[in-house]
Amino acid sequence: MTNPARQPPRWIDFHCHLDLYKDHASLIDECDRERVATLAVTTTPKAWRRNRELAERSTHVRVALGLHPQLVAEREAELSLLEQLLSEARYVGEIGLDAGPRFYRSFDAQERVFERILRACAEQGGKVLSVHSVRAVGKVLRHLERALPPDRAQVVLHWFTGTAAEARRAIGRGYYFSINSEMLRSPKHRQLVAGLPSERLLTETDGPFIEANGRPVRPRDVAATVGELADLRQEDPDVLSATLLANLRALLAS
Ligand code: MN
Repeated sequence: MTNPARQPPRWIDFHCHLDLYKDHASLIDECDRERVATLAVTTTPKAWRRNRELAERSTHVRVALGLHPQLVAEREAELSLLEQLLSEARYVGEIGLDAGPRFYRSFDAQERVFERILRACAEQGGKVLSVHSVRAVGKVLRHLERALPPDRAQVVLHWFTGTAAEARRAIGRGYYFSINSEMLRSPKHRQLVAGLPSERLLTETDGPFIEANGRPVRPRDVAATVGELADLRQEDPDVLSATLLANLRALLAS
């Protein structure tokens, strides 16, 4: 019998906080069993080593080195740790900017941190980024454009809520979009997602911050999101699934 965990992925969860679930280790096994290619984003660089240890033997889970913009107010000092660890990391996230009312006060610090991370990624090259941009899409794009030449990193915009013009700007730079179930609840965002080019789409859960049926979503729940996305875009779900997996391969091949 072949081991299902060794087979290619069926689904993609390109942004999930595995370390914020009580059953972190068994969730990694679940991703392998269900063949969900999962990017385990982290919120502080201090979480990196433990996440890496736990995912060491996983086929389908990769760990990203992050410093969440919502934590920059208290954690800016950990930027140097992130810079030290960066050479070990292929994936970087969660990083970005958040201009929501609770975090706006740290916005200057967030911009400093984001800029430094982007410059370091540009210098090292070959990174894949998962980027947060709540109420700050224009500024996030400006930082990316200024600090990160397109051939130095791949950018995935997580939970993108910008305008159609901002989406076009991101598409022009070669960025990808990871789509979650919550984005498909909002009529405005549905319309935006419906118009994105298929070859730039990925899926994500942003679990455990999103709930489904009264419990935090798990990576395997992206299957439902693919169904809804196919419906919205009037595509065949199997065709869309194959497209998403091809997109992941293209993203990682470059
Ligand atoms: Mn997140």
